[in-house]
Amino acid sequence: MSGQDVFATWRLDGRTALVTGASSGLGRHFAGLLARAGASVVLAARRTDRLEALRAEITAAGGQASAIALDVTDAGSIASAFDDVVPDILVNNAGIAHAGKAMDMAAEDWEAVIDTNLTGAFLVAQAAARKMAGRGRGGSIVNIASITGFRVANQLAAYAASKAGLVHLTKALALEWARHGIRVNALCPGYIVTEINRDFFTTEVGEALVRRIPQRRIGLEQDLDGALLLLASDAGAYITGAALAVDGGHLVSSL
Ligand code: NAD
Repeated sequence: MSGQDVFATWRLDGRTALVTGASSGLGRHFAGLLARAGASVVLAARRTDRLEALRAEITAAGGQASAIALDVTDAGSIASAFDDVVPDILVNNAGIAHAGKAMDMAAEDWEAVIDTNLTGAFLVAQAAARKMAGRGRGGSIVNIASITGFRVANQLAAYAASKAGLVHLTKALALEWARHGIRVNALCPGYIVTEINRDFFTTEVGEALVRRIPQRRIGLEQDLDGALLLLASDAGAYITGAALAVDGGHLVSSL
């Protein structure tokens, strides 16, 4: 046996990982996971008081975490969030959805989704990449997109468009920033149960949706762990510009 220890490449000791939208759902889960992998985690959310319990939880488990205020739709907030932080890893997780008929959609609802999911993700990636390039040891950016970046769902026009944009943006940034040693990839979850959608999947419509997933089950937060760590760590050192679906086969469901 020769070469590097492949198992060691999954560890994130000595790395700093910034997670946006860390106060709830997947962001909260990703932050805990990255801390367990050894990273010092910077928890970012609009309201830092919502991050205190998570910060305490990570610290009590022997991990390292700090909390910063960050509104991804506010350029000033992004600039100050990166004042003192040079991340090795950015998880661009903050996102919102607007469900409703496209014909009835207000311009503000469209703009809010695009501003958060696409423009926000770009501006945060740009701020992180400038810091990573300035330090000169590269980094990894993981954009949390969605399977709606590839296929559409009813009454999710703005969300699907924003996530398709994010997948394409991922490729464009991967191309430009490879020369700085910065990898940019998209993680595209299928339907994952979190505290805000748990009840939906017990409804008739929710159960019907689950039956259309080839694996016939809804995703759990931990189903994303392997993919997130692969893209964030040196285990994925030669992966850039990829969009990895983790969806129980939902994207390949029968037409
Ligand atoms: P969530 O609503 O629990 O998490 C979204 C987080 O983003 C929240 O903490 C929210 O406060 C934060 N946020 C929203 N606007 C922000 C802003 N302007 N600045 C900073 N933070 C902001 O939902 P979630 O399911 O955990 O979603 C997390 C990400 O995963 C989103 O990008 C979502 O599109 C994506 N995703 C989720 C699923 C799923 O099934 N849960 C599937 C595919 C993709």
